[in-house]
Amino acid sequence: MSQDIYPVPAGFAAGARIDASGYEAAYRRSLEDPAGFWAEAGRRLDWITPYSPDAVKDVSFGGPGAASGDVHIRWFHDGTLNVAANCLDRHLGPRGDKVAILWEGDNPADSRAITYRQLHAEVSRFANALLALGVQKGDRVTIYLPMIPEAAVAMLACARIGAIHSIVFGGFSPDSLAGRIVDCGSKIVITADEGLRAGKTVPLKANTDKALDQAPGVETVVVVRRTGGKIGFQEGRDHWYHDLIAKADPVNEPAPQNAEDPLFILYTSGSTGKPKGVLHTTGGYLVYAAMTHEYVFDVRDDDIYWCTADVGWVTGHSYIVYGPLANGATTLMFEGVPTYPDASRFWQVIDKYGVTIFYTAPTAIRSLMREGEALVKTTSRASLRLLGSVGEPINPEAWAWYHKVVGDERCPIVDTWWQTETGGILITPLPGAIALKPGSATLPFFGIAPQVVDAEGKVLEGATEGNLVIADSWPGQMRSVYGDHERFVQTYFSTYPGKYFTGDGCRRDEDGYYWITGRVDDVINVSGHRMGTAEVESALVAHPKVAEAAVVGYPHDLKGQGIYAYVTLNAGEDPTDALKKDLVAWVRREIGPIASPDLIQFAPGLPKTRSGKIMRRILRKIAENEFGALGDTSTLADPGVVTDLIENRQNR
Ligand code: ATP
Ligand code: MG
Repeated sequence: MSQDIYPVPAGFAAGARIDASGYEAAYRRSLEDPAGFWAEAGRRLDWITPYSPDAVKDVSFGGPGAASGDVHIRWFHDGTLNVAANCLDRHLGPRGDKVAILWEGDNPADSRAITYRQLHAEVSRFANALLALGVQKGDRVTIYLPMIPEAAVAMLACARIGAIHSIVFGGFSPDSLAGRIVDCGSKIVITADEGLRAGKTVPLKANTDKALDQAPGVETVVVVRRTGGKIGFQEGRDHWYHDLIAKADPVNEPAPQNAEDPLFILYTSGSTGKPKGVLHTTGGYLVYAAMTHEYVFDVRDDDIYWCTADVGWVTGHSYIVYGPLANGATTLMFEGVPTYPDASRFWQVIDKYGVTIFYTAPTAIRSLMREGEALVKTTSRASLRLLGSVGEPINPEAWAWYHKVVGDERCPIVDTWWQTETGGILITPLPGAIALKPGSATLPFFGIAPQVVDAEGKVLEGATEGNLVIADSWPGQMRSVYGDHERFVQTYFSTYPGKYFTGDGCRRDEDGYYWITGRVDDVINVSGHRMGTAEVESALVAHPKVAEAAVVGYPHDLKGQGIYAYVTLNAGEDPTDALKKDLVAWVRREIGPIASPDLIQFAPGLPKTRSGKIMRRILRKIAENEFGALGDTSTLADPGVVTDLIENRQNR
């Protein structure tokens, strides 16, 4: 992997919120005295009843032979607070007229700027509307909305009254929506008539109607009018959002919640199997989301911050809505896609609003890189000062393009490793403190105790490679799988008893930097050499003709496992046998003979989750010739891709 080091730029070092020695000191303290450290950090929020010093941390990860009841995680557990009050009410004095949400529609002509005062007013009204509809504390509220400000309003209104939201990404089908409604037993769904993506409508209300045939427990549907398209409307069950808002009392007192009352349920993206209903609670989650947002993105009062995720994913929860609003930041919300009207849309939006901090995913970077740099260079991007990446390992090639072409070599890149389960970022550079290495998420955030273990759970020291576990809790950690604590314990605490197992593999280098090598389930074992998928894929993507690559293992008579590589070429490149040979030679040269692909299949597209992650388990089944056992494919973005891959499978 790349050995380049990018030191902290002088500008960042000068204005740093925390520098290298400050990071080391704070990190050390956070591990030596977690309760003391987090007691202090928790004061960034307004508490209705302050937590007592001995209630800051109450955690057991169980241990060998522990019963499931032995795993419990509580933070700040005698404190009470309200998340919406922390994201809105407390900002009204100092920044009531500051823009809270900048909204950019799918159509570049559509935009809105909503101040903290306006957002507070709308959330208060909608909270009262939910109460009037009979929603009570602890009830689950399913939100199936496009990326419009009403999505944030709905989240915050739930938080204000203590209802638990469960957001389902607007790209999911009626079946997937129904499954998630039934799993958490919600009686109310908030949706829109239609969504808009790349100029096309998405039939959200029609999907909801279909889903409700399989989810008869739903009594109430709230519909936001987005496009004005024709929809079915069931009197008594369905309500227009704007009617409810118009009728609602404008004053709503935020209801005190215990720090451990549930805030939301969110299903994981389903890269490895059936999604899990991840449960997050109130106090610890918000402390952690707000603190990481401030430190990782170096957020200042005059920043225009843009995270391109959808609120249907955890990144949208923590880093579009809760973290930024708790910090009183201006957060940009984008309804559209990176390639509409054309592939310069991201850069156009950055110039339009003077975006200073930009946070996106490797899948988006790779797809825009494929379009070439000319489109990027039609824009200025001079306002940018910091870039971020999340969702998958970022290949050094894509990192370099992001740094050079998008950031004009001026902006540090924070490569943030985390999961739906972790609530916030765990391993990441702090831009004023930590030098960067392309492809490495670098070092742990405060309070995070990563360990690298071998298959038996032995802790490996120094520069090494193995499975990534976290030895102790942090406030943003998930508390349970909704309705199934046993599954929570089994999934995360049984592989290495007493430790949180991330499911990811990683390498730690001689500087203590962490490199996520991919999912442990995806590790390939060639002639006794264990290899992460990220390294081989990065080598392939570094080839000038390759846009994207995914590698998996398949049974091989001599080596145990062989390497099967699916390769997507740059626009206009020819898929020839000569190129296959060239790619094999290329990987041999980049990594070594052990990593040379045995079979290469050119693929016009790869199977991805709706959040853009490559689903290697499906590719593995295809490589193994097991087309009948593809498993849960409900989270696939484009099932058509799979048919093409099966038809063009390479034979041994
Ligand atoms: P499921 O758990 O249902 O299989 P998922 O793991 O894709 O789905 P998420 O919680 O959205 O669901 O994704 C977390 C995973 O994404 C991490 O475990 C890791 O594999 C990957 N990931 C996220 N950020 C990074 C990063 N910066 N570098 C490397 N990998 C990352
Ligand atoms: Mg996962």
